[in-house]
Amino acid sequence: MHTIRLLYSSDALEGLRYRDFLTIMEKAAETNRERAITGMLCYGGGQFLQALEGERLTVNALYHHIAKDPRHSNCQLLSVEEIGARDFAEWSMKIIDWNDAVTAARQALLLKHSGSRQFNPSQMTAQQATVFLRDLAAMERLLTE
Ligand code: FAD
Repeated sequence: MHTIRLLYSSDALEGLRYRDFLTIMEKAAETNRERAITGMLCYGGGQFLQALEGERLTVNALYHHIAKDPRHSNCQLLSVEEIGARDFAEWSMKIIDWNDAVTAARQALLLKHSGSRQFNPSQMTAQQATVFLRDLAAMERLLTE
């Protein structure tokens, strides 16, 4: 079995309310759990950055499925890599609303990894996006401990 991590960015449909999106994602998280998909989805400034981890075929199928969703557009594949260990193993899909309570610590994290205080994942390199999400996950773990 090949486990991979796939990262992509996209533009949210204009007018999409975060609350509506959370409802969609409740079902998505359930589906992901059934398919042993883990990951993180960050939403901010009208953009998404999502990491999907799991068995290669399953992740590929899910990505192509999500890319057709009319609630976002301009899906940009940032990276696909085989991994020995998952970064987001405890979350079937951890959701972070970047617009909500952007703390100094979060801003510093973004500045560190992207060189900007604006959440603009489509401008990040694959390496920046990977490390940014990994550090963000570590920060979330500390907050929920
Ligand atoms: P269904 O009626 O459940 O599916 C219809 C058909 O789509 C199925 O017969 C099957 O062929 C195909 N299909 C359904 N689910 C999958 C799947 N998981 N993999 C491959 N093919 C499938 N949804 C998730 O499940 N996980 C996510 O992590 C996720 N992230 C999202 C991120 C963003 C930014 C957005 C906008 C949407 C995301 N979604 C995710 C929602 C996803 O796009 C679909 O709305 C959701 O999977 C339900 O699919 P459906 O409405 O086609 O319903």
